[in-house]
Amino acid sequence: MENFIEDALKATKHSTPEQDEFYQAVKEVLSSLEPLLVSDSKYTKHNILERLIIPDRQIIFRVPWIDDAGKIRTNIGYRVQFNNAIGPYKGGLRFHPSVNLSIIKFLGFEQIFKNSLTGLAIGGGKGGSDFDPKGKSEGEIMRFCQSFMVELSKHIGETIDVPAGDIGVGGREIGYMFGMYKRLTNRYEGILTGKGINWGGSLARTEATGFGSVYFAENILNKQGETLKGKTCTISGSGNVAIYTIQKLYELGALPVTCSDSKGMIYDKNGIHLNSLKSIKEVARNDLREYLKVHPHATYIPRSEYKEGTNAVWSIPCFAAFPSATQNELNLEDIQILHANGCHLVNEGANMPSTLNAIAYMQKNGILFGPAKAANAGGVATSQLEMSQNASMQKWSFAEVDNKLRHIMKSIFELSYATSKEFGDEGNLMLGANIAGFRKVADAMIDQGA
Ligand code: GLU
Repeated sequence: MENFIEDALKATKHSTPEQDEFYQAVKEVLSSLEPLLVSDSKYTKHNILERLIIPDRQIIFRVPWIDDAGKIRTNIGYRVQFNNAIGPYKGGLRFHPSVNLSIIKFLGFEQIFKNSLTGLAIGGGKGGSDFDPKGKSEGEIMRFCQSFMVELSKHIGETIDVPAGDIGVGGREIGYMFGMYKRLTNRYEGILTGKGINWGGSLARTEATGFGSVYFAENILNKQGETLKGKTCTISGSGNVAIYTIQKLYELGALPVTCSDSKGMIYDKNGIHLNSLKSIKEVARNDLREYLKVHPHATYIPRSEYKEGTNAVWSIPCFAAFPSATQNELNLEDIQILHANGCHLVNEGANMPSTLNAIAYMQKNGILFGPAKAANAGGVATSQLEMSQNASMQKWSFAEVDNKLRHIMKSIFELSYATSKEFGDEGNLMLGANIAGFRKVADAMIDQGA
C-alpha cells in the first residue's frame, strides 16, 4: 500500500515526462485516497488508479489560421477526453499561451472528480490551445475559433463530449465555434455550453462559477456558525469567475477589495466598484490599470513590483481569500502572509490555484479550505443544466437556475463534509471531495468492466 502513489504515478509516464501540473493534480488526489483504498480492496484489485490516470483519448492537432496581414499562422489544439464512466466528457476549452499537454491533462483530471461531485451525469475532459487571444483583432479571433472547430467537430457531440469555456474562451468564442459547427454539420444541437441566451444558452451560466464559489464558502462558514456578512475578502483575477464572485460577495454583505489581471492588481479599500470592473473587462477588454482613471483613490500594483515569488493580492489583509485566476497563484509564502494577517478561509474559484505546500500549511494551521473541485463546480454544474434545457427544449428562468445551483453547491459541501467524517478527518474538505468524487467514478468503472 505504501507505494501506491508512486506506482500509480508511474502510469502517468505512458505519455510524456515532465508534466509538472498534471503530476501535482494527480498527487493531490491520490494522497487523499489512502483511507478509502485501505478500507476497500476492490479499487486496488481492479487497478483503478492506473486506469484513471491514463486518459481515454488525447487529441492533439494543428490549428492553421490567417492573421490580419494575410499570413498563415499555426497553433496547437488539444482535447483530452479523460473519463466517461458516469457521462459524456465535459469540460472547458482554455486559450492561453501557457497551454500545453500537462496543463490540459491536469485540468481534465480535475474535471473528472469535480463533475462527479456535482451529482450530475457528466464525465471529465478538457481542451484548448496555446493561442493567445490578447492583442488579436475580432477577425483573427473568429478565424482561429473557426479553424479550431474544423478539427474539434470530429470529436464532440451532445452525448459524446460537450466543451465549454475556460480562460480565454467566453461567450464570443463559443459563438464563433458554435457557428462553425453548424456550417460543418448542418446540425443545431447542444454541443457546447456557455452559449448565448438567444441561441441555446442558459440564464445564470455566466454567473455560475463565481456565484457557486461564494455559495460554497458560505456553506463552510455556516458550519462554523459564521457568515460572510461584513467580512473583507480578497479576490485574484478579473475574468468571469472573479467578477461574479465579487458580485455575489456584495449580495451577501461582504466587502471585496481586490482583483487582478496578468499585468497587476487593484486594491480598493472602499470595495471594488463592480460596474467599473465589468465595463473595463467585459466591455472594453482593457487593462485593470484603467480602474485608476475612474477611482483614483485605489491602489494599483504592477506585477513587476510584486515581492519576488509572491502574489501581491495575498498581501492585503482579509477574512477570506478567493483565488479566482489560475493554477499555482497562491504558494507557501502567500499563505503564510495571509495567515499572519488573520485570514480564516481560502476558497478556490480557479482550478488548482494553491500549491501543495500551501494546502499542507492551511491544514496544519487550521485555515478553512474550499478545494477547487468542490468550490468551483458551480460552473460545470450549470453547464449540465444548460444541456438539460437543450435536450428537453425548455428554458428556465434565472431564479430557477440560480436556485438549482445553490442546492447543488450545498449538496457538494454536505457530501464532502460527510465523506471527510466517514474517513476520520472531519472537516477536511479536500479529503472528502477527493474521496467522494473518486468513489462514484471508480464504482462506475468497476460496474462497467475493463
Ligand atoms: N471551465 C470550467 C471548469 O473549469 C467549466 C467547464 C464546463 O462548463 O464544462 O469547470
